[in-house]
Amino acid sequence: MGTDTEKKPILLTVDDDPGVSRAVARDLRRQYGESYRIVRTESGPQALETLRELKLRGDLVAVMLADHRMPDMSGLEFLEEAMDLFPQARRALLTAYADTDAAIQAINVVDLDHCRLKPWDPPEEKLYPVVDSLIEMWQASDEKPVTQTQVVGHRWSARSFEVRDFLARNSVPYKWLSSEDPEGERLLKAAGVGPTEIPLVVTPDSDYLIAPTIAEVAARVGLSTEPTTDFYDAVIIGGGPAGLGAAVYAASEGLRTVLVERQATGGQAGQSSRIENYLGFPDGVTGSQLTDRARRQALKFGAEILTARDVVGLDLRPSSRAVRFDDGGEVVAHSVLLATGISYRKLEIPGADELTGRGVFYGSTITEAPWCSGDDVYMVGGANSAGQAAVYLSRHARKVTLLVRADNLERSMSYYLIRQIADIPNIEVRLSSEVVEARGDDHLEELTLCARGSGKTETVPATYLFVFIGAAPRTEWLEGIVQRDENGFVLTGPDLRTTGQRPRGWNVDRDPYYLEASAPGVFAAGDVRANSVKRVASAVGEGAMAVQLIHSYLEHQ
Ligand SMILES: Cc1cc2nc3c(=O)[nH]c(=O)nc-3n(C[C@H](O)[C@H](O)[C@H](O)COP(=O)(O)OP(=O)(O)OC[C@H]3O[C@@H](n4cnc5c(N)ncnc54)[C@H](O)[C@@H]3O)c2cc1C
Repeated sequence: MGTDTEKKPILLTVDDDPGVSRAVARDLRRQYGESYRIVRTESGPQALETLRELKLRGDLVAVMLADHRMPDMSGLEFLEEAMDLFPQARRALLTAYADTDAAIQAINVVDLDHCRLKPWDPPEEKLYPVVDSLIEMWQASDEKPVTQTQVVGHRWSARSFEVRDFLARNSVPYKWLSSEDPEGERLLKAAGVGPTEIPLVVTPDSDYLIAPTIAEVAARVGLSTEPTTDFYDAVIIGGGPAGLGAAVYAASEGLRTVLVERQATGGQAGQSSRIENYLGFPDGVTGSQLTDRARRQALKFGAEILTARDVVGLDLRPSSRAVRFDDGGEVVAHSVLLATGISYRKLEIPGADELTGRGVFYGSTITEAPWCSGDDVYMVGGANSAGQAAVYLSRHARKVTLLVRADNLERSMSYYLIRQIADIPNIEVRLSSEVVEARGDDHLEELTLCARGSGKTETVPATYLFVFIGAAPRTEWLEGIVQRDENGFVLTGPDLRTTGQRPRGWNVDRDPYYLEASAPGVFAAGDVRANSVKRVASAVGEGAMAVQLIHSYLEHQ
């Protein structure tokens, strides 16, 4: 059945007599078949099962016509339960003369629109006028079919936040429903799960996932998670600006390229509300716009992009490099580019870990901002990323308080941002100030702040704390494989030759290329590289440059 047909609103009938059931359906199809889909069922339980499927598929039910006298479940009982799933659908009971009393009673119980006496012949006189008026009433409700993924979760559920953030950062359109909203409850009921089994992810093809992993969500919403072949010229690890830049150049120059991203393409840049200093965008560009374009560009040239795959190991084999995933899978290539950037440092205070995703957030301002409207929010950090986020959040929150440990912003934040912040009345900057504890049961409820110097503490009510306290490379998995500096950044090219010697174990008769790590054929670009510049432009530039060096490596291998 084509999508068009599926998304026609539905007229559902239920009658236990197959002959009658077929006849009603035939009459309805003749009159309404062009604009409505007629769904025929032969018992209350069967009709309810059908309604549950329709609900999960995002279909609309306009009218339900139920026979009253049915053995398993009366029409009345059916309509009562059906209302929980499709409250907007108009309802009619088909009764024989003898059941008129029951039907009249039903008008009050299930807010029935019509009880229609059988037989309905001729339909032009007895059936269509009733159905017409039911359709007209339903049309006034202005219901729309749901064509996108729906997520039922709770505002303060860390798992729900994870899924929401993942979909948002991967530009997958979705509809969010709280498990406490009536429509959220209806979907949970249709899937047969309780309010604690969240998030529930419902895709438009009526498939659903209960409390899924991110990899399951990725696969279900159409993001690639599996390589299509088992050998590539280049595996790029990390889908930030460096990785995407490399993917565009590598694929456009004919290298068989696969990019593996643990969470969402865009990396840190994807979380930026406005990048003002990237060449070619005089009015700035949002991180998600830049990411979306880069991603499409890489795919256009034939790069594969795998999402929700976490790389945990790198094996140096005699004539190849194998990249291992956390689920045991692997992808093998001639060369590897490490473009894993840096990740936010964790806030080491009591309560922060327990409340992460439930009021304490690392980055994620774009996903969370709409939720903060009217709230007072707190932010920790004094660098550009915190400044940008404060400016962005100030458009949603009632007030933004930026907590900065240092006694000035000038040393850590760009002048243009300091100026912008000073001009925004609902941003307060508290210098020499830090947060020392986060508390809350179900979600963040209060913070303890401490004034550095005096040591004076203050407890404030808070539902949001956004943390931007610097970042570190997460490269522990490269231990013993490539050389890193004392902070975990990958050493490349000239940085490997500070003693005038080639790296230990280096087995080719040339020096490491400029962006090559201490293992031949393994390169690093962007923020993860020791002494890199930590900018979007430099990450993209290094990604492009790495591809040239990969070409040289492949030629002389
Ligand atoms: C909020 C914010 C605003 C910023 N604003 C600006 C700005 O205005 N101008 C500017 O020039 N710079 C800005 N920056 C800095 C800039 O975004 C970074 O320098 C740039 O993103 C670095 O790119 P990258 O590709 O090296 O790394 P990242 O962007 O950090 O990307 C690395 C990617 O690798 C993935 N990854 C990590 N480990 C693994 C693994 N093991 N397996 C699979 N995938 C993995 C990560 O999930 C991530 O997506 C900003 C940064 C932030 C956080």
